[in-house]
Amino acid sequence: MPDVARPEAVSAPVRRLGIFGGTFDPPHVGHLVTAVNVRHALALDLVLLVVAGSPWQKEGSRRISPAPDRLAMVRAAVGDAAGIEVSSIEVDRPGPSYTIDTLTDLRSQFPGAECFTILGEDAAALVPTWERYREVLALTRLVVVDRPGSVCEVPAITEWIRVEVPHLEVSSTDLRARFADGRPLDYLVPPAVLRVASERGLYRSDDIVWAAKR
Ligand code: ATP
Ligand code: MG
Repeated sequence: MPDVARPEAVSAPVRRLGIFGGTFDPPHVGHLVTAVNVRHALALDLVLLVVAGSPWQKEGSRRISPAPDRLAMVRAAVGDAAGIEVSSIEVDRPGPSYTIDTLTDLRSQFPGAECFTILGEDAAALVPTWERYREVLALTRLVVVDRPGSVCEVPAITEWIRVEVPHLEVSSTDLRARFADGRPLDYLVPPAVLRVASERGLYRSDDIVWAAKR
């Protein structure tokens, strides 16, 4: 179930639903700015930040922070932003986090809602590698935003909606390196996220050592 902590999220019907998935390890201003600007540009009633429970395409390539920790950071990042909610649907579902399963579940939770799946260009390039991606295309429209620093081409598998958002060259990969070597994270990550990361002991330098050994 998506988090529905605020009463208005329960009562207002959601007709246009944005779904913005990610590993969010950690969440950063690039994610948040994308979510609020796509919501505005496409007049979405709600954008759900869907935290990948088991990001199967990334597993094995690096240490991934535990899903409950990433979920806590995303909740802290979103705070009480209007029209943005955090979904634990993939964290609560066992097995690999396939978008097709998430879409199927969300469509029954939000009956009648039109779904818009939001992706940075780099993630859009990978859609043809997703599990049952043609079924995904039948259930949702895809919304692509520029990913500064990425030179990925969006595959010609469907019609994409392009949305312009402020270009912020921020990535979780760079932020993890900053955590590890002590460079500043200020203004790249909301302070509430930094507090959660610190309380939970995330992003110690052994993450980087682990990556280097492989
Ligand atoms: P990592 O470096 O670990 O891959 P990331 O910064 O790419 O992390 P993800 O959780 O992988 O973050 O991305 C989730 C979604 O957010 C993807 O669709 C990705 O393209 C998009 N995204 C991430 N950062 C930005 C950004 N700065 N601007 C626009 N979209 C972004
Ligand atoms: Mg990424």
